[in-house]
Amino acid sequence: MSAQVVTPLFDISYDVGWIAALPKVCLHDHLDGAVRPETLIELAADIGHELPASDPASLERWFVESADSRSLERYLETFEHTVAVMQTASALTRVAKEYVLDAAADGIVYGEVRWAPEQHVRAGLDLDSVIEAVARGILLGEEAAADRGSTITVRQILCAMRQNNRSLDIAEAAVRHRDRGIVGFDLAGPEKGFPPTAHRDALDYCARHFLPVTLHAGEADGVASIREAVVDGRCLRLGHGVRILEDLTRRDRDADLADNVSRLPSSRDISLVPASSLYEMGEVASWVRDRRIVLEVCPCSNVQTDAAPRVGEVGTAQGTEDSPNHWARTYREHPVELLRGLEFAVTINPDNRLMSRTSMTHEFLKLAEEFGYEREDFFEITMTAANATFLPLKEQDEIVDRVVAGYSDSPVVG
Ligand SMILES: [Zn+2]
Repeated sequence: MSAQVVTPLFDISYDVGWIAALPKVCLHDHLDGAVRPETLIELAADIGHELPASDPASLERWFVESADSRSLERYLETFEHTVAVMQTASALTRVAKEYVLDAAADGIVYGEVRWAPEQHVRAGLDLDSVIEAVARGILLGEEAAADRGSTITVRQILCAMRQNNRSLDIAEAAVRHRDRGIVGFDLAGPEKGFPPTAHRDALDYCARHFLPVTLHAGEADGVASIREAVVDGRCLRLGHGVRILEDLTRRDRDADLADNVSRLPSSRDISLVPASSLYEMGEVASWVRDRRIVLEVCPCSNVQTDAAPRVGEVGTAQGTEDSPNHWARTYREHPVELLRGLEFAVTINPDNRLMSRTSMTHEFLKLAEEFGYEREDFFEITMTAANATFLPLKEQDEIVDRVVAGYSDSPVVG
């Protein structure tokens, strides 16, 4: 069975009805990276903000091309435009409501959306007001989705920007607004040069108040950054975390085998040879894997920003940061399948729907195309995510039940 499905943000049709219909859990998605191009144009006109293009299709293309620069810094620059129009309560509420509707259309039954309140106070709003505005939009979105027959729950993760010094304010605001759907804390922005230890007060505050933490780490910086995220940040999940593979050494005697295994297209093939037997794991990688610290993997985004080690180079002398061959430049070269083969707790996420021209459905489609993922692979990934939410256990169990029920309802194809 198949059907034409149009992804909510983009004018692309895929013959992927069964993938679109699967219930999805999304743990890593930025609100300011998911603004509809049409909305961006309208909100920019309201405040006289100049955009690089004036029609939705050209604007969308500009975002993708800019984000394709293979530099996290340039990728982050594109957010200047989305953030610029999200400075009033009404704009924040609208963007949040539309986010929830788009997520529901993408098959998401539970999502944690993240954003940085400190970036939305330029027009005079305070932190509490911007958080209230987004919370209101999410509620409206959940209600509107329910009216359309979709059950979706969305919670917020508040980000502090690593290059600024407001992280303690944000951590305090997150704890203060827990009853408005805030479930976690994150550090976002440039990873290199702005380590978690520079935000120790905020991270200690979260720990003392038992607020769950996920940190962007192992994206624009390597194992040292991940070490700080888990040791100093006490994070329960890692935003991306894919550079954890730089803590692996390939055993020489198995080089040919590792080459082959890392290129195999499907997880069932890889399970014929345990990938873990081919690599020596460092203590950070062992900790992350053994303690089930969940990786919020975002393949499309990683390929755009040179954030993921290329699968065939993992653990080799060539696989160092300065080597031109180090980075996955195509989806096929992304090490997501190796991470699963090594038994890391892997989830799949969009990161930024607009800049990366993606969605949960699109990521799943690419996994099916490039690695032969099937229904049981998507179920495993989704259950990993459903069991790693920042919800209290009873609410999390309801999400798990929602996923299981969705899989039993969805057509058995793929
Ligand atoms: Zn992110």
